[in-house]
Amino acid sequence: MELQHKEIPVEFLQRLPEGIKIVKRHGKEFMVVESVFGPNGEDLVSRSVHIHGEPTLRLGVTIGNRTGMIFVDSFWGSHAKLYSFVPDDAHENAEVNAFVPETGASLMADRECDIQGCDCKRSILLNLPDGRSKVYVCARLGCPGHSIDLADMPSEVAKSVGSINFFGVGSLDESWFDEF
Ligand SMILES: [Zn+2]
Repeated sequence: MELQHKEIPVEFLQRLPEGIKIVKRHGKEFMVVESVFGPNGEDLVSRSVHIHGEPTLRLGVTIGNRTGMIFVDSFWGSHAKLYSFVPDDAHENAEVNAFVPETGASLMADRECDIQGCDCKRSILLNLPDGRSKVYVCARLGCPGHSIDLADMPSEVAKSVGSINFFGVGSLDESWFDEF
């Protein structure tokens, strides 16, 4: 799948929330989730497991009847993941239940995915450091759905950021990252 680079709104770049950073690859700017927390302030970033040269988001998950950890690509719109276990039900339509690995606290929220064709009604909720801005990731494994609620920013800016999908719908072209 071809990488589709989208412009990041200027209003967003000017008031970039804590926990989101911009990195350059091949001369283009990408959003990377740098710092997110669970419901009780649990740090969910793995500094030991990297994807595409950046720390990953580390989540406990139940998929079907297996439980383990996943490490999620922190590039906005990528849904590359590494598994700490062999999911027996990791087909594209499986929905995950995500939780804080250490405490088991649920990360799930009732929020409908806005990707056309996805009817998933649950999202993984990640809190940005300001405690008021939130990132939502669709609970369906193969779905690239994600959105962001930004404190102190007009909702249309958040909507526009949420619709950015650098990697298109479908699997990430890994070879693109190998080029740098
Ligand atoms: Zn979805």
